[in-house]
Amino acid sequence: MPESTTKTKSKIKRPNLDALKTGEVTIADVPSDWVIEKSKDLYGIDRWSNGYFGIAPNGNLTITAPGLAEHPIELLEVVGGLKQRGLEMPVMLRIENLLVDRVEQLNGAFSKAISESNYQGDYRSVFPIKVNQQNHVVAEIARFGEKFAHGLEVGSKAELLIAMSTLRSKDSLIVCNGYKDEEFVDLGLQASRIGYQCFFVIETPSELGLILERADHWKIKPLLGVRLKLSTEVDGHWSNDSGDRSLFGLSTTQLMDVVDHLRQRELLDCLQLLHFHLGSQIPNIRNIRDAVSEACRFYIDLVEEGAPLGYLDLGGGLAVDYDGSSSTATHSRNYDLDEYCIDIVETVMASLDPPGVPHPTLVTESGRWTVAPTSILLFNVLSVSTFDPTPFPELKNEELSESTLSLLETLSALKERRLQENYNDAIYFRDQMRMAFRVGEISLRERALAENICLTILNKIAELVPKLKKPTADLVKMCESLSDIYYGNFSVFQSLPDAWAIEQVFPVMPLQRLNEKPTRSAIIADLTCDCDGKLSRFANEDGPASTVPLHPLHPDEDYLIGVFLVGSYQETLGDLHNLFGDTNVASIRITQEASIEFIHELEGDRISDVLSYVEYQPQEMSNRFRTMAETAVRDGAITVAQRQEMLRLFNESLRGYTYFEN
Ligand SMILES: *Cc1c(COP(=O)(O)O)cnc(C)c1O
Repeated sequence: MPESTTKTKSKIKRPNLDALKTGEVTIADVPSDWVIEKSKDLYGIDRWSNGYFGIAPNGNLTITAPGLAEHPIELLEVVGGLKQRGLEMPVMLRIENLLVDRVEQLNGAFSKAISESNYQGDYRSVFPIKVNQQNHVVAEIARFGEKFAHGLEVGSKAELLIAMSTLRSKDSLIVCNGYKDEEFVDLGLQASRIGYQCFFVIETPSELGLILERADHWKIKPLLGVRLKLSTEVDGHWSNDSGDRSLFGLSTTQLMDVVDHLRQRELLDCLQLLHFHLGSQIPNIRNIRDAVSEACRFYIDLVEEGAPLGYLDLGGGLAVDYDGSSSTATHSRNYDLDEYCIDIVETVMASLDPPGVPHPTLVTESGRWTVAPTSILLFNVLSVSTFDPTPFPELKNEELSESTLSLLETLSALKERRLQENYNDAIYFRDQMRMAFRVGEISLRERALAENICLTILNKIAELVPKLKKPTADLVKMCESLSDIYYGNFSVFQSLPDAWAIEQVFPVMPLQRLNEKPTRSAIIADLTCDCDGKLSRFANEDGPASTVPLHPLHPDEDYLIGVFLVGSYQETLGDLHNLFGDTNVASIRITQEASIEFIHELEGDRISDVLSYVEYQPQEMSNRFRTMAETAVRDGAITVAQRQEMLRLFNESLRGYTYFEN
């Protein structure tokens, strides 16, 4: 073996090492012709931002409040204001103007569709509290929705208590879904008693008896609805919520039983609402039309049976275009708000007009659409790891093994026409080199050098791959494997749980330097020690991408990233993985004079908070540590002054933020 090694060595021509300086292998230099329009395009801002976000000439990301197009506000300015107020990153930022705009748009679009089609019924929006239960959010919806009699949908006693104490207009609907026990029903009846339009939606046959019994007890006539199980099945992630196997709703047989029972008790006039919910985020408008049309068949026949009805509740499902592709992909949708409203109105009219059934009040429970764009997760980048090669030292051929020399030769022979072959060679010789290391033929120092040569080859190949018309899957995967890892000050599990649980895509982009070409491609890792704690699916016009373009960090300069459209479901579904708690939360309002008002701040969990959630008692922990320190003093291991210092650190940490602090 050693002999042949020597022979091969001598055959190999010494590669030209001058070409291997790393200056040449880094990804293209910053070109000067980069303009902010390119960043807009690259991050797809106009595709997903609903016009709420833009870029200032200085390269900073801006919020454009509706009606204030002339006065965009830089997000960095907001971050600065938060810092002055003691709110460090990560922060969940809510923008009140956007919430107001969503409520107005939703009601406005239905109102427009209704008047344009000469529809004879009304429209009522209800917000499903489960989508974002935060007090401030629900209170704002109630406040700004008052003029539209915007209501609330509740699925539990806790949510019903929120609705009863938050809604301002008695014309607003409270729609009670979910399983209801006696206390739930009693509460809802009290809501009716003080004048709210509180509907009990019957989801299972057994509920009806309980509701009628309690209504009888309180001498209150209940408002009833029935939840249909439609046979229309939908596309998208929540497709299981629809069709025969859907978890919720009455089968047709059960529905007829409910009707018969009510008629028998002479209470059929209580049945005033027909409800269905096909699941959230329905990407395809055709599914929505089909479902409405099927529900209308139920509506017509129930009216014929003698139920007054009057309300047709279409549930949620109005989707958000997370990836900006305007397609039927799971994280997108092939329709906009106006189309949604018009299609619903027209489908109902087309179904009800021939038999001459009066037009009902339309109800939708649009949660995701209403609140998704109103919150942004903001965090700073702590560090970056790259897979860039480093410069080589002076090399002497005679000290190198066969596999290392082969790697060097592969490097010097690199050709755009033969990238796949060059790649195969690099991997082959690298594996040989690793084998040689394992059996003790080469030293650790040589292995480090050889790995570095291999990385240089792969980076050079990656630079050339974009020039190929049809790169192989191998090469594409290799390029991804060279992407940087940006470490962000946040927890996916706490703030973006759907990114982990259901591979939800959210728009992600930097808040600054958008007048500069982002030359790095990266994935973003969070603070948890979990290999799932990362963002590696990003919104892209042609479907999700596995990396996002970012800028190389500048020393001593914060690099801030925003994750957008996170107002729905994320905060509440979040959990305490690795004991990272709730983030700081702030709400702002942009005034007519285009200044920022900080209207609401909420400090995130302290370390002592998250510890007590998992049943530790911070006071007791502190006491135990003090005893331990005192024993150490007694044993002469530390001084009293050192004891004091330790206790101060321990107790300060208990009061500290769970995230990385500067
Ligand atoms: C979750 C839920 C909604 C909300 O759906 P979105 O798609 O978020 O609008 C509406 N209605 C019911 C019954 C729900 O369970």
